[in-house]
Amino acid sequence: MAKIFCVANQKGGVGKTTTSVNLAAGLAKLDQRVLLVDLDPQGNATMGAGINKAGLKSSIYEVLLGEADVNTARMRSEAGRFDVLPSNRELAGAEVEMVQLEQRERRLKDALAAVDSEYDFVLIDCPPALSMLTLNGLCAAHGVIIPMQCEYYALEGLSDLVNTIKKVHANLNTDLKIIGLLRVMFDPRMTLSQQVSAQLEEHFGDKVFKTIIPRNVRLAEAPSYGIPGVVFDPASKGAQAYIAFGAEMVKRIKTM
Ligand code: ATP
Ligand code: MG
Repeated sequence: MAKIFCVANQKGGVGKTTTSVNLAAGLAKLDQRVLLVDLDPQGNATMGAGINKAGLKSSIYEVLLGEADVNTARMRSEAGRFDVLPSNRELAGAEVEMVQLEQRERRLKDALAAVDSEYDFVLIDCPPALSMLTLNGLCAAHGVIIPMQCEYYALEGLSDLVNTIKKVHANLNTDLKIIGLLRVMFDPRMTLSQQVSAQLEEHFGDKVFKTIIPRNVRLAEAPSYGIPGVVFDPASKGAQAYIAFGAEMVKRIKTM
């Protein structure tokens, strides 16, 4: 059975997609079978995995509306050696169109059930909003990975996300839990980064992942080549950190 994780934070630009794509590729390097679900109409995870979002025959949009199954819509990231359920701007319409559907928050969960046995990990890259799309991700998942930048405003908004996760846990998905907070774009030379990082550890204890992802320009350059950073420059500090994070996740699921 696959373990399913949402990479979520309603703040924009905090490193959700970079984490999703590089964790997927990092896990693939550790011989894990991975499906990356792009649940964001921006399609950044799709592009970052090397798939052209403009040329899709079918996508997660059709899957959520019941017009295609996962088997038809999924594609292969040759560079990353994982599968992708791709997305593009069409997905923005799904939010409205799903309103009329029954059990609309469970569409993704139901669709993923068909391929569950084929993967060790399913990673869901969520959009920067607590929307119906994110709700579908949270209903489908066993746990949430929350990427955070160690900056002054990092904790602002975290309580909204935590409350949403609690509500989903209580009403829709009793499996759901916060797996951990992942410190990303970390700059060890900044005192503020160090302070916020220490505060996170103090408040959240073992809910903070041991691995810290540094700010690393190679991770930012990789998407323009359609290659995950961990493959683009495996020796870079950013790549090494995401591979270490993959190993931490493999260890973590053994205790779940
Ligand atoms: P959105 O909310 O729009 O979906 P996001 O949370 O998915 O954004 P990313 O797209 O992963 O965030 O990252 C935002 C920007 O920061 C991107 O330009 C990305 O390349 C860059 N970035 C992410 N992580 C790192 C890192 N560790 N080092 C350097 N740059 C990074
Ligand atoms: Mg993103």
